Amino acid sequence: MYKGIAASDGIGIGRVVIIKEQSLSYTSYTPKSIEQELTRFRQAVSDFTDKTMVMAERIKNQIGQKESEILEGQIMMISDPMVSSEIESSIKDGKCSEEAVSTVCDTFIQMFLAIEDEMMRQRASDIGDIKTRLLKLLLGIEDIDIGAVAPGTILIAKDLTPSMTAGIIKENVVGIVTEVGGKTSHSAILARALEIPAVLSVENIVSICKDGDELVVDGFDGCVITNPTDNEKAKYSEKQEEYIKYKKELSAYMGKKTVTADGIEVALFGNIGKPEDAVKVVECDGEGVGLFRTEFLFMDKSSIPSEEEQFEAYKKAATALKGGTVIIRTLDVGGDKEIPYLDLGKEDNPFLGYRAIRVCLQREDVFKPQLRALLRASAFGDIRIMVPMVTCVDEIRSVKKFVQTYMLELDSESISYNKDIKIGVMIETPAAVSIADILAKEADFFSIGTNDLTQYTMAVDRGNSKVAYLYSAYNPAVIRFIKHVIECGKKASIPVGMCGESAADKALIPLLISFGLDEFSVSPASILATRKVISEVSKESADKLADKVMKLETEKEVAEFLNSY
Ligand code: PEP
Ligand code: MG
Repeated sequence: MYKGIAASDGIGIGRVVIIKEQSLSYTSYTPKSIEQELTRFRQAVSDFTDKTMVMAERIKNQIGQKESEILEGQIMMISDPMVSSEIESSIKDGKCSEEAVSTVCDTFIQMFLAIEDEMMRQRASDIGDIKTRLLKLLLGIEDIDIGAVAPGTILIAKDLTPSMTAGIIKENVVGIVTEVGGKTSHSAILARALEIPAVLSVENIVSICKDGDELVVDGFDGCVITNPTDNEKAKYSEKQEEYIKYKKELSAYMGKKTVTADGIEVALFGNIGKPEDAVKVVECDGEGVGLFRTEFLFMDKSSIPSEEEQFEAYKKAATALKGGTVIIRTLDVGGDKEIPYLDLGKEDNPFLGYRAIRVCLQREDVFKPQLRALLRASAFGDIRIMVPMVTCVDEIRSVKKFVQTYMLELDSESISYNKDIKIGVMIETPAAVSIADILAKEADFFSIGTNDLTQYTMAVDRGNSKVAYLYSAYNPAVIRFIKHVIECGKKASIPVGMCGESAADKALIPLLISFGLDEFSVSPASILATRKVISEVSKESADKLADKVMKLETEKEVAEFLNSY
């Protein structure tokens, strides 16, 4: 058995097809004609763009708009003047296209890898993919046809790039195993979207296996079994059957209300990063959007997205939800989310520094277009504004003042907007918990961000593996905070939601029901599973559970108790 990272749920049992790396070696030469060499490079870029557009279209049809954007993003990267003009100037300096592409792409790869941010590392992987495919085009190397593999195939590769994944016919591939990548890499995102079990980062798996080997891929536990015994095959087939049954059961929750076993209705929303994801929320039967992380609109750009651009994005999300609530969070830059062009400067403690609302309140160039865009889009649906990283009541008061100012501006321009737009506070710092009663007087709603609340409550950097054992929402410290926030919301008669990962935690849901959480916002893929758990819990049994949990003293006791429930 070989261990790796569990990247996409499911069990795959099938035969191996190894995607071997092709040699991309070339001999450098000095081109006789710079013009001809430039034409050769531009032709390769044009072929690259054509092929990528075809692949993006295929992904859009097979999976969805959001996933196809990974490939569209590659077209944008190669058309970015920074990249193409660097390559062209290298050719003008007398390098052949292969060398120019390699050197320039390698420089960008190193640059992105040096940034400690998963998104930026992903950019490095995209540039690597672009480099390989451009070299293949320049060297006349044919791509392997992944689309032609037989049914029951398990694909094994050093790395499965987005362009390779684009060729996959979902019905034929039952598993994916790679030597690199993690849960958030594009190959993982695409594997999940295709619902193909995947295990990534399995050391040396390409040399361990050969074509035709039988293999079991366990996408739940992140392990791979080569040439399984009959017993092993039977065990995993059973696990596979159970999962298929579970997914069928989930589909029975489509179109149903989100209601506890004893009839208490709660709201079940989805978290999104792009306006297109709102469609996914609707497809997964989410009732609204509980968190639109607007950072992603800013991250894919080289300058602040204009008011118009943001207006279109927010309007698109509101329109997709057809009147359903769309809670849009103002820019949460800082911490681990860097946006280089905002020039916020390097900090020793970015999670404790210039982040989110602290930035927005000081940077009108950032806040004004966003708030005006949000107001304008509020004329097209139930858009609500949510403020992240609040620690004092002055912050929310200041936000409201800004909103009022822009409302007056819009009035003078005769632009319509929702005059009663709701403004809520994200509760993700101990300070916000402590003054939740005060904040509740100013806020129209709360949403608990357990990802950060756990980090700040436990004083533990999520990225530090030495203290990772402390990063758990099951800590009594975090649980008491959650309970307190919901109580404060109830006293002030404002709704309290949760948009951190804990909202989808099956073990925690009964406790949240007992506390009286009004709204759960989870990733679209978790919507039905969350509805199922909620429907199986009664308030009465949840209250009994909560009584016991609130008396427990350690994280371990809480985790064990909740998981055994
Ligand atoms: C959170 O902190 O729980 C949250 C939802 O925000 P983010 O994960 O974007 O920081
Ligand atoms: Mg947060």
